[in-house]
Amino acid sequence: MNHDDLHFWSRRAADWTRDYHAGLRDRPVRARTRPGDTAARLPATAPEAPEPIETIFADFETLVPDAMTHWQHPRFFAYFPANAAPASILAEQLTAAMAAQAMLWQTSPAATEIEQVMMRWLRDALGLAGHFTGTIHDSATTATLCAVLTMRERALGWRGLEAGLSGQARLRLYASRETHSSVDKAARLSGIGQDNLVKVATDPDDAQLSMDPQALDAAIRADKAAGLTPAGVILCVGGTSVGAIDRIRDCIAIARAHDLYTHVDAAWAGSAMICPEFRALWDGVDGADSIVFNPHKWLGAQFDCAVQFLANPAEQVRTLGLRPDYLQTLDQDEVTNFNEWTVPLGRRFRALKLWFLLRAYGLEGLRARIRNHVAWSRELADDIAALPGFEITTAPVLSLFTFRWHDDARTRDLLARINDDGRIYLTQTSHAGRFVIRLQVGQFDCTRDDVRCVLEVLKDLTRD
Ligand SMILES: *Cc1c(COP(=O)(O)O)cnc(C)c1O
Repeated sequence: MNHDDLHFWSRRAADWTRDYHAGLRDRPVRARTRPGDTAARLPATAPEAPEPIETIFADFETLVPDAMTHWQHPRFFAYFPANAAPASILAEQLTAAMAAQAMLWQTSPAATEIEQVMMRWLRDALGLAGHFTGTIHDSATTATLCAVLTMRERALGWRGLEAGLSGQARLRLYASRETHSSVDKAARLSGIGQDNLVKVATDPDDAQLSMDPQALDAAIRADKAAGLTPAGVILCVGGTSVGAIDRIRDCIAIARAHDLYTHVDAAWAGSAMICPEFRALWDGVDGADSIVFNPHKWLGAQFDCAVQFLANPAEQVRTLGLRPDYLQTLDQDEVTNFNEWTVPLGRRFRALKLWFLLRAYGLEGLRARIRNHVAWSRELADDIAALPGFEITTAPVLSLFTFRWHDDARTRDLLARINDDGRIYLTQTSHAGRFVIRLQVGQFDCTRDDVRCVLEVLKDLTRD
């Protein structure tokens, strides 16, 4: 295959893309395939001789789409969304053509500078204070790891990087039980250790399950008294299970009083902050040292695209930056080399899809979608509450709520039947010791009718 063939097949791929998208509502949302099915249909070894692209493309069509769960399906209500707005797909195609490497300014000047401008656009769009700058990672998991590594080094006076962790003070991190498992992973990978991630109690009187700020303060004081070294606090805005929201202002005030670094995980909910009316949910966020949100979730940027805002990037760069001779850029001292802000050296040109996305829909177009999702989700929760045997177990936080039907066993069985039915796709979590069904509205092309379809499915499947 050469570049002329690429031109021909790219057109075929464009046709396929349009037809695929147009036909999504006719497909079951979740893949109907068993473990091993796809692998069993592939040859055991790579071909020695070239094969025609025609055959490869045909095999793609027969093997792949039916064995995929369709994240762009407008009735995907599981997990959190992973959107791919058409404008962002187009940008990704162009990025792929250039195969950009955005590790240093000089290896991709436009990528670095568009990334810097996109960080300012997004900072202002989310209503964050003007001192934040930022960078784009692959995932929120990476951003959180970067923040936790910075917490570690800051607490150790930057001694861990060279001396290692043995013989150092025992560090402590604090987060509520509602934070995402990426925080546990960061505690493990940073060498701080899972045992030193203190899961601070949530406030029993808070419907949004905030970490209890007084419990945070008490935990930090107890650790100090025991000779341990607190390093940082990780807060969540829109926890993955039921959308828990820490009281950011109160928790940051306590972290600050103890000189601790703070990282706010708003991977999903951050996109909603383009709407001013939702910003009360993270009131006080301007006091954070680090904030992550994933435009690849609700905003519409194709995966992967995780934005980290930093109040003072110098601390993270001091932790992660490394400049061997072959990466010196000699005469380019004023430029930003974004690899120094993250873990990998090679970096994708992710800013291009943000540039396309923000321009092609405008902030108003993106806000309208998110507002609709929130309104439709609330409307649906009210209607589900009125169905016999159903109970809303956690009220909508933005567009996420949970519900159950009678008891654990029947809820579990209903969920299995919903997903075998295929018209919609939902997932589960546990809340207050009970099995509950999770539902979020957030797919880019989802309509009110798609959301209303949930009610039809629930009625159909609980009729007898
Ligand atoms: C999705 C999610 C993550 C993990 O995001 P990745 O980008 O997949 O690493 C972390 N935290 C929260 C709150 C999330 O919703």
